[in-house]
Amino acid sequence: KVRVRFAPSPTGPLHIGGVRTALFNYLYAKKHNGDFVLRIEDTDQARYVEGAEDYIINSLNWCNIPYDEGPGKDGGFGPYRQSERQHLYREYADELIASGNAYYAFDTSEELEHHRQDHEAKGKTFIYNWHNRLKLKNSLSLSKEEVQQKLDSGEAYVIRFKAPENESIHLEDEIRGKMVIESQVLDDKVLFKSDGMPTYHLANIVDDHLMEITHVIRGEEWLPSLALHVLLYRAFNWKAPKFAHLPLILKPQGKGKLSKRDGDKMGFPVFPLQWKDPKTGEISAGYREDGYLPEAVVNMLALLGWNEGGGSEQEIYSLEELVNAFSLEHVSKGGSKFDPEKTKWFQHHYLQERSDKEVAEDFKNFLQKKDLQFSDEYITKVVGLLKERATFVNDLWELGSYFFVSPGNYDEKASKKVWKEDTSQIVDQIIEILKGTEDFSAANLQDRVKSWITSEGIGFGKVMQPFRLSLVGAMQGPDVFEIAAAIGKEETIARLLKAKE
Ligand code: GLU
Repeated sequence: KVRVRFAPSPTGPLHIGGVRTALFNYLYAKKHNGDFVLRIEDTDQARYVEGAEDYIINSLNWCNIPYDEGPGKDGGFGPYRQSERQHLYREYADELIASGNAYYAFDTSEELEHHRQDHEAKGKTFIYNWHNRLKLKNSLSLSKEEVQQKLDSGEAYVIRFKAPENESIHLEDEIRGKMVIESQVLDDKVLFKSDGMPTYHLANIVDDHLMEITHVIRGEEWLPSLALHVLLYRAFNWKAPKFAHLPLILKPQGKGKLSKRDGDKMGFPVFPLQWKDPKTGEISAGYREDGYLPEAVVNMLALLGWNEGGGSEQEIYSLEELVNAFSLEHVSKGGSKFDPEKTKWFQHHYLQERSDKEVAEDFKNFLQKKDLQFSDEYITKVVGLLKERATFVNDLWELGSYFFVSPGNYDEKASKKVWKEDTSQIVDQIIEILKGTEDFSAANLQDRVKSWITSEGIGFGKVMQPFRLSLVGAMQGPDVFEIAAAIGKEETIARLLKAKE
């Protein structure tokens, strides 16, 4: 059975790159009727940030890509927070020591720093590995007795992986294909720290094994760790999962990884939800609070680094369609440029997919904040007239505030152009016709006014332009008769009288 996991570290808000990783894991799991596991990798206590785990979970829920197993949803492989699995890791580190794949190292951080500087002075880089491990303080260089004595006396130590000295390591990635890494370039990574906690590498491999993960789908930044991970599986004699490293999400200009600064500069969020930094109080924008629909964000993210292939030019995909169409085969190797305008394009599309009634519910909240109370029916009707031109629910106000409040002023340029000497007289005549109209539907109004225009032989614009200006305050908006019918007879007449003043 396919089992994938999303394994974020709760070190801050989840970047949309992380959401995309989660999404691709979700899609892969659902496509293969598998399980999507959320594992919180919180072994690095120093980097733990309050609220980050909740933020991650809320983000996945908002995107409609909930996990099958994880914190609060036990699937028999829990607990799903590494801090709650702490007791598990030590025995695996010991196992590697026993099999000769790992060793104790007693070098203090001062000593290591000294070695680093020493190398630097000679124009070299210090790497803790086969090259110099026998010159350093560890269980490979010291005698058995010395090691035992240090352990007995409680001296601080770490456990390091013993990377092979001279071997071509063959790696395989579902997206990138085959790769070869020479083991000489690897360092003896720390697996277990002096604070009694495993490092990312050990905990990650042990948990992927214990949780029976079949496919590791993660960001490209983990590719340099792949050789070590493959070596760890071999050292444990475990079957390794398949790996797929997703391409970077690039800045809109295409150079380098998308960062929060790009979003700040160009005015788009890089986080799914708004985030308030618990330490600094700084607020970072989120797609949800900026008025985006989750479908738009998910659709946009799906196409960052994936396409259906086969010459398909489809861009609009529901989550269900994504599940059906997704495959790792069509994930690209190269990074893909983030395009904030495209996100708006998706948003416009998905707002149109929402029914007028649904959009009206959100718009009603917006109006209530302005202390404007209108019936659901009326708001729904207005939404129906304006939605096409809106990208966000809030745009509806900009597009149609005049449906709710009489225009406070009139567009100057338009007034000059529209309001002629005989206009007040024409407006009086419109008012007379409206007064005599019982059926105030748009269709009937149009009938009445138009046949009057024809019989009088006045220019169409001479009537319709001041009519619009009086109701809207500007020369924009949907059909004037629709507007008049919506705001009603009394209000329409009141606005025409007011405009005349
Ligand atoms: N905890 C790692 C992260 O924060 C997980 C990397 C992986 O998926 O192996 O991205």
